Amino acid sequence: MIQKTQYIWMDGKFIKWDDAKVHVLTHSLHYGVAPFEGIRAYEIDKSRSAVFRLDKHVDRFFDSAHIMLMEYPYTREEIADAIIQTLQKNKLKAGYIRPIAFVGDGDMGLYVENNPVHIAIAAWPWGAYLGEDGLKNGIRVKISSYIRYNVNAAMSKAKISGHYVNSILAKKESKLAGYDETILLDEEGYVAEGSGENVFIVKNGVLKTPPLTSILPGITRDTIIQLAKENRIPVEEIRFTRDELYIADGAFLSGTAAEITPIREVDDRKIGTGKPEPVTQLIQKRFFDIVKGRDKRHKDWLSYYKV
Ligand code: PMP
Repeated sequence: MIQKTQYIWMDGKFIKWDDAKVHVLTHSLHYGVAPFEGIRAYEIDKSRSAVFRLDKHVDRFFDSAHIMLMEYPYTREEIADAIIQTLQKNKLKAGYIRPIAFVGDGDMGLYVENNPVHIAIAAWPWGAYLGEDGLKNGIRVKISSYIRYNVNAAMSKAKISGHYVNSILAKKESKLAGYDETILLDEEGYVAEGSGENVFIVKNGVLKTPPLTSILPGITRDTIIQLAKENRIPVEEIRFTRDELYIADGAFLSGTAAEITPIREVDDRKIGTGKPEPVTQLIQKRFFDIVKGRDKRHKDWLSYYKV
């Protein structure tokens, strides 16, 4: 069960967690148009915490609305402030933050013009999304029988609730078959992304990840690419097949929730030795050093706050 906090920011006001309710005719509940974000905050030291890459998440939250022809009644600065305030109001030193925008009730049918756009921001403590053991030792993944949406069927650059129907089908299939997570291929059969993560492989010291064509532009993905370049690890944004994944030396998933989770098996094939290899370990270490403020090189990625 989710670890509840006290307050949720809703349309500019803080209300009690249990009172943050919507009408059953909320338009987005019926038709899936609800842009959202997943953001993490980490404790830096006893007196300070920081949100990781807040501006980039706020930008993507607005990009999602732009793609969907939705307008928010708030500015980027107001949303960024509200996110920090939600953490402070709930005295959360570390946790996961979920801003969501949705079209409210009023009219029904697909095309509505006057239904209000609401925004809510919740935050709660959330540990390793794919488990502590997964973070350390890697997870078992299954390639989904469902493919990622065609780029002209769903707008992959928009993080919208409805797009997750595809992810949930894939995730359920893999979980019910006994795996931890799933990877979806694109319509041409190349590796696209996880249900809520981007995918990386390591082969002969080179890091490869699918190009942004048909996937969500992950902020963790962007972070990893920058860190790899700083460490002189060659990075290729290039398509690869599922069998290239099978014979990789290492592989991992990246995402705000999943952080950097090594993959130890895909479709019952061990990846490399079955243990996180050096490039994965290095990237994982650099990532955690930065988000927790131990590495001072990317302070610009941290938005500090006190609770
Ligand atoms: N792909 C999908 C489908 C996702 O849901 C996520 C999580 N937001 C990601 C990739 C990773 O994105 P990020 O690193 O920005 O969390």
